[in-house]
Amino acid sequence: MQCFKCETEMKKVKFIGNAAGMPSYLTYKEKGVFNPEIRDNVECYVCPKCGYIELKAENPSLFKNLTNLS
Ligand SMILES: [Zn+2]
Repeated sequence: MQCFKCETEMKKVKFIGNAAGMPSYLTYKEKGVFNPEIRDNVECYVCPKCGYIELKAENPSLFKNLTNLS
């Protein structure tokens, strides 16, 4: 993957977004006990030249049927 800003080849790294040190993930759950929680890992790429960071869902198709009521 190339940097969106300076076209340098980006490096894949881990993105930790909380104090517990666990990798961050995307989550979505509709109201109702029978609706399963959807979780997906976050892929993170950093540009070693300009510092631009790109976050991507690992399996974006998991979210294609969301109703987004909230
Ligand atoms: Zn860059």
